[in-house]
Amino acid sequence: MTFNLSPLPYALSALEPAISMRTMEFHYGKHHAGYVDKLNKLVQGTPLARQTLDEIILRTARDRQAAAIFNNAAQVWNHDFFWRSMTPDGGGRPDDALGRRIADDFGSFDEFAKQFVTQATGLFGSGWVWLAGDADGLRIVTTADAELPMTSHRQALLACDVWEHAYYLDYQNNREGFVRAYLDKLVNWEFATEQLARMDQGRVAAIGQRSDRRAR
Ligand code: FE
Repeated sequence: MTFNLSPLPYALSALEPAISMRTMEFHYGKHHAGYVDKLNKLVQGTPLARQTLDEIILRTARDRQAAAIFNNAAQVWNHDFFWRSMTPDGGGRPDDALGRRIADDFGSFDEFAKQFVTQATGLFGSGWVWLAGDADGLRIVTTADAELPMTSHRQALLACDVWEHAYYLDYQNNREGFVRAYLDKLVNWEFATEQLARMDQGRVAAIGQRSDRRAR
């Protein structure tokens, strides 16, 4: 299988002024495209070339020998997810269903937003900030470099790229300004709600399996 650079769900200029077209040209056109190219070169002629992106990520996670493959595969996945976590008319508040879950697990939406910014600015070096969930509920997760919630059995709902390449042209060293713009202007809550539904469906299936076993 050859991996392709997924099309952006909007124009390169669509996120302006929160994220400039110039940032998108580099971030999508050079960084993201570069991860796709490197991944294709690394897996070419190996059994991994026949795997899906998710399978490659799960098979190479925590395998030092396969670190280059993991890093490039995970960065392809992370960027695909990041672009879809944003929309030109985004930001604001989630719908009632997700809003209630956030209020239950964080206390309030404002507390969620505060924690998101704190975790993003506190993450040392390059990485990602996520709204993610598991059986214990929703939480904000930070991951270093290319790491992602999938390898800790968590469902990602939203991703924010806090590598410097994501914001340096527009915000220089002001990571907080970038993360606030992401929350206020860009977050695609509809996309997050879809991921929450996937998480809940997965949980229902797992509970169903357990009761089947008990019934036997
Ligand atoms: Fe990036």
